[in-house]
Amino acid sequence: MARTALVTGGSRGIGAAISRALKEEGYTVAATYAGNDEAAAKFTEETGIKTYKWNVADYDSSKDGIAQVEAELGPIDIVIANAGITRDAPFHKMTPQQWKEVIDTNLTGVFNTVHPVWSGMRDRGFGRIVVISSINGQKGQFGQVNYAATKAGDLGIIKSLAQEGAAKGITANAICPGYIATEMVMAVPEAVREKIIGMIPAGRLGEPEEIARCVTFLVSEDASFINGSTISANGAQFFV
Ligand code: NDP
Repeated sequence: MARTALVTGGSRGIGAAISRALKEEGYTVAATYAGNDEAAAKFTEETGIKTYKWNVADYDSSKDGIAQVEAELGPIDIVIANAGITRDAPFHKMTPQQWKEVIDTNLTGVFNTVHPVWSGMRDRGFGRIVVISSINGQKGQFGQVNYAATKAGDLGIIKSLAQEGAAKGITANAICPGYIATEMVMAVPEAVREKIIGMIPAGRLGEPEEIARCVTFLVSEDASFINGSTISANGAQFFV
């Protein structure tokens, strides 16, 4: 039977590309969204990917949502923790609310997504966790103290989960995308976006499908000895 994969934020952007790629590989896919873009979720559902709405920042909603997915589609063997938001501001103007929203969604959201499936993965002796971090978690970014903290935190999460899961057949890895052409990046003013592209040696933004292909590799049998690792997919935008 096909393994079941859960992709949080799988209704649009990078997550939608991941959902599609996993479906093409033959997995049963559940994509989640928050409820801000019903049209994108409807479109994803129409492509044969079951969509579910819950807030990853809330533990009980995540636990209940995951129980519903497992009841309908079977045990979740693959988790792609992709849902994420930005609330950018220079630190002197960053509000406690902006800090909290990003921490709750991008960091606590990963805990809330992985924790309810972890025991089942341990019991079955198989699991694949992939967290979508960011180049800005590796290098920091002006105006993103909150976001960079969460994305750096993701790397701590996967390195620790890898050590706890390795003997149980579970791998946990991260992907750090550079700038990818999704709504999150297209919302940046064009002049700033041009400046960003000027810093990327590849001379272009990445495509969501280029991140999705990293995911399909990391969840495959071929990647069984890759655990606690980070794939940087950023068009050679080195950061040291
Ligand atoms: P988008 O803004 O295009 O899509 C975000 C997705 O996450 C949507 O499906 C959204 O649902 C969902 N989501 C947001 N908040 C929540 C929540 N609280 N609960 C459940 N679902 C939620 O994002 P991207 O595709 O651009 O980014 C995806 C991931 O990749 C993020 O973690 C981001 O930080 C990371 N990343 C992105 C980069 C880029 O250049 N785009 C670069 C590096 C990392 P809804 O439609 O309902 O809002």
